[in-house]
Amino acid sequence: MRIGTAGNTADILSRHKFNIRKKYGQNFLVDASMLDKIVNAAGIGGDDNVLEIGPGLGAMTQLLAERAGSVTAVEIDKELIPILKETLSGYDNVNIINGDIMKQDLKELCGGEKYKVVANLPYYITTPIVMKLLEENAAIESITIMIQKEVAQRMQTGPGSKDYGALSLAVQYYAKPAYICTVPPECFIPRPGVDSAVMRLDVYEKPPVKVKSPEFMFKLIRAAFNQRRKTLGNAVSGDAALNISREAVQQALAELGMSEQIRGERLTLEEFARLADVLEDSSDK
Ligand code: SAM
Repeated sequence: MRIGTAGNTADILSRHKFNIRKKYGQNFLVDASMLDKIVNAAGIGGDDNVLEIGPGLGAMTQLLAERAGSVTAVEIDKELIPILKETLSGYDNVNIINGDIMKQDLKELCGGEKYKVVANLPYYITTPIVMKLLEENAAIESITIMIQKEVAQRMQTGPGSKDYGALSLAVQYYAKPAYICTVPPECFIPRPGVDSAVMRLDVYEKPPVKVKSPEFMFKLIRAAFNQRRKTLGNAVSGDAALNISREAVQQALAELGMSEQIRGERLTLEEFARLADVLEDSSDK
């Protein structure tokens, strides 16, 4: 039986007397065509291993299991495990793990093989999960996720936009983002208070810019956007995690032909990389 309809979802919830837990960000997808759209966007084939984060009742897991070679599904809520065992009993290529995705060793999941991530993510923890997936250097090929629309916009935007920030730069350093579609609240039980969106991130084998220390560049980026209304010189020289003098920042900006008045929100990823390379030696952190 397909789970992803409002009637079938309500039936499973009531049969198992399951109380939806807000603290785990549980908004179950009940729109069959939207479920199809996400799985299509992920481009899953018979050779693929898939990691699903938060399978919930298993609505998307069913579709993934029908198309993929194998599916590993990590669900934090132990009350959902017996339900998943029932709804996924017809599939022998699904491995259900009861655990917190933030505590998993991503390199060990899927038997150390390459894999694609597909998930309707819990919104309370979207950014930490995405950053873990991108930074942990696991064998992830692509990440297709349902997230809040506003977060999706931040991931794909560029300099000059009010949504541009540390998340945009981090995502774009590790992956090529594509906005797939907007998803209205009616597609879920219970309905979230905001619009959602499906994003696909194709993870680069090599980042699109070269930088001596990505770690230092991200410290610089965080400093620039922590105080986004200040000029870059003021924001960076006032940041305790960097400890760089205002003179050093001004000298670096001059060397790169940038105005002393420029703000971080104007710089591209490439420009942050150049600035980081020049400034790294001036920092004593
Ligand atoms: N995939 C299902 C669907 O689309 O109907 C459920 C999606 S729901 C938005 C998010 C799911 O993630 C819930 O099942 C929730 O219990 C689970 N979850 C929340 N935090 C988690 C975490 N840290 N690790 C693993 N799963 C988590």
